Amino acid sequence: MGVYLDYQSAKPVDPRVLEAMLPCFHMEFGNPSSLHREGDTAAAALEDSRKTVAAWINAVDEEIIFTSGATEANNLALIGYAFRNRDKGNHIIISEIEHISIHNIARYLERNGFQVSRVPVDQYGRVSLRKLEARVTPQTILISVGYASNEIGTVQPIAEIGALAGSRNIVLHCDGVAAEGLLPIDVQRDRVDLLTLSANDIYGPKGVGALYVRKGVRLNPLLIGGGQEKGLRSGSENVPGIVGMAEAATIMSREMAVEVPRLRAYRDKLIAGIRSAVPHCFLNGHPHERLADNAHFRFQGIEGESLLLSLKQQGIAAMTGSACTAKTMEPSHTLLSIGLLHEEAHGSLEFTCGRFTKDEDIDQVLEVLPGIVERLRQLSPIYQGNEG
Ligand code: PMP
Repeated sequence: MGVYLDYQSAKPVDPRVLEAMLPCFHMEFGNPSSLHREGDTAAAALEDSRKTVAAWINAVDEEIIFTSGATEANNLALIGYAFRNRDKGNHIIISEIEHISIHNIARYLERNGFQVSRVPVDQYGRVSLRKLEARVTPQTILISVGYASNEIGTVQPIAEIGALAGSRNIVLHCDGVAAEGLLPIDVQRDRVDLLTLSANDIYGPKGVGALYVRKGVRLNPLLIGGGQEKGLRSGSENVPGIVGMAEAATIMSREMAVEVPRLRAYRDKLIAGIRSAVPHCFLNGHPHERLADNAHFRFQGIEGESLLLSLKQQGIAAMTGSACTAKTMEPSHTLLSIGLLHEEAHGSLEFTCGRFTKDEDIDQVLEVLPGIVERLRQLSPIYQGNEG
């Protein structure tokens, strides 16, 4: 493998997770709903996994609903809560820099009679509590703000938002995907009522996730069927995936205290190295309230796409925009929300490091990136070298 610095888009499954999953495919393959021994074994694995995932975020097991991933958990949280509670109000608040799935769910809710307010963020991508509070009305039933941005890495003041929502009796949903494994998530401390989690973001498999649903918060299901997952998510459970998610959470809980400072050191080396070797580049996102794995830059006068392809030729994987929208060629809504012009948003590049990143990977980026930027700028009709 070359140098992989796009952990935000996808993470490899940790070999220890894979090992924990394997027996569930062919030896302990039963359906947790069956009443025979094979069913009992699968049910025990499912419920053990539920306990593990719950403990990881300081919840209790009956508050965890396993889903097919974060997109489904976001749908269940917003659509499930809005439709179940529309007698209490029809107004929802999200932030402008939510993941594309939240934005598209919000549009769907608008088409179905709900009103949605989108709170702007500052130049670093932080939601202002004052602006959030100003948008609350007596009709507001739900606030949805991600724990951190999967693009620019900015961390939100979730505990403060939780306290605000709690004081107004408004349910808070939080997409925790970008932050999980990088920040200690605690649904009690932060007063989060609904929390989206994904397995892949902690080195588990893709296609598995969970929604934490605080006891007493009522949702409508999206999938109707055999009534699994307390009737909130029918369909035979993906036991191998769920076991993988629990093993990934166990490893993460144990290793995070060592892993996060290591990632932060790589990130800081990357940021300092790029800043000192490349003129006219700017860090996007918050200078210190940012995820430990994230270095997101804007390079004046060149296209992020060209940079990405040149890096690809050198065997280096990075990212422009978010993987979920990378193929649309639209500038990232997050970058426009923090005030970048279209051409500035197009000149941005994101590096995210992870569990298997090595010091040499960072060195290699720092060795080749300045030359690539310089070459592209020589070809660029818009680079003037006079900004900043
Ligand atoms: N939320 C965030 C913050 C994400 O980064 C992603 C994509 N990794 C999702 C939701 C959607 O996740 P999935 O593709 O697992 O449904």
